[in-house]
Amino acid sequence: MKSYGAYLKHVLTCAPAPRSERIPVEAAAGRVLLEDIRATIDDPVEARSAMDGYAVHARDLRDAGSDTPVWLAESGRSQAGRTPHLRLAAGTAWRIMTGAPMPAGADAGVPVEHGTRTDGRVRFVAAPKRGAYVRRPRENFRRGTLLIRAGTVIRAQELGLAITAGYKTLRVARPLRVGVVSTGDELVPPGSRLRRGEVFDSNRPTILAMARDAGVQAIDLGRVGDRPEFLDRILKEHRRELDMLVTIGGVSAGDFDVVKVFLRRYRSVDLVKVGMRPAKPQAFGRLGRLWWYGLPGNPVSAMIAFDRFVRPFVMRATGHRLVFRARRTGVCEMSVGKKHALREFIRAHARQAGDRWHVRPVGPGGSSNIRSMVNANALIILPERCRRVAAGEEVAFELLADPPLRTVP
Ligand code: AMP
Ligand code: MG
Repeated sequence: MKSYGAYLKHVLTCAPAPRSERIPVEAAAGRVLLEDIRATIDDPVEARSAMDGYAVHARDLRDAGSDTPVWLAESGRSQAGRTPHLRLAAGTAWRIMTGAPMPAGADAGVPVEHGTRTDGRVRFVAAPKRGAYVRRPRENFRRGTLLIRAGTVIRAQELGLAITAGYKTLRVARPLRVGVVSTGDELVPPGSRLRRGEVFDSNRPTILAMARDAGVQAIDLGRVGDRPEFLDRILKEHRRELDMLVTIGGVSAGDFDVVKVFLRRYRSVDLVKVGMRPAKPQAFGRLGRLWWYGLPGNPVSAMIAFDRFVRPFVMRATGHRLVFRARRTGVCEMSVGKKHALREFIRAHARQAGDRWHVRPVGPGGSSNIRSMVNANALIILPERCRRVAAGEEVAFELLADPPLRTVP
């Protein structure tokens, strides 16, 4: 049996370097950036108005007050994007719109609602500070400033910043192509009439959804029953189009465990017993260029094994800097017994009360019952040597909905 920690490390060190492609920045949302984004321009390149209003010389309005209004002649106006080069004449105000370059010499803005305009003149009743309502040149960033680090997932705002910084295309990771296949003669498609011994193939769509959620291009390869020759066929047909094949089921101690039987032929994929609960039996390795991950068949085990290993593997292989969720601690609301010296992942419900988290295990128990995953929003993580958690003790947990926050250890 391999310890959970050592096995996880092994899996992650196997993750290949991401392959990159250059795509239009507009199409990059959701992708992982593979280059640092540095500003190619100063932003803004010149002083600009932060308001619709008037550009003025602050000293012309030095004496303006509610009892001592000052009148300035309106010498012209400009709008964002359509601005002649000009110099503001002393003793005048220039009507200006948000984002328009300040006329040379003007050193303050006055919002439109603070000036009253009549007959080509504007009445001001307050003295603006120098620099008020002016966006200074380079106040957002200077050319060359590091703005976004490689390894960041591009969200709407990263996309906006990259464009603002002058980018037209971005170097991003190519998504991994991951095929998912379920095994077991008992499996039947959703909604069929179940005959004796049959179960719905729920894992494959579940794992496909998890894979898409991890940012891969997930490819549904159907069911192969318990016949090794069907796995052969899948390999022959799809090997070239895949980076990774994820199989579900057939890796434990049953007589017909198809993945196990199939993989005995290859020494490059390990059938492992991982020191964890659930999801002890798994398979991991490669056939030539194709990575192989064998998940256990019980629905909870399949999900947890995917979550703990496949997800960080594919994320790392697509250039993510952060692949692990925040490890939190919370008060365990009930006592939990633990029989085995294994790393245990306990489906749990976590809630915040005041500034503390409270967590409680949720059922129903058993790794074949996926209802517990629906009731859970977290996994309590108990270390190998832990034997019991008393109610009120602190435990480590992860929120399943948390975005990845931690780097590879
Ligand atoms: P196995 O690992 O193949 O021995 O499967 C363990 C248990 O998980 C068995 O009860 C299977 O029927 C069940 N199982 C395996 N694959 C799936 C699947 N794709 N969907 C739902 N249940 C499955
Ligand atoms: Mg099976």
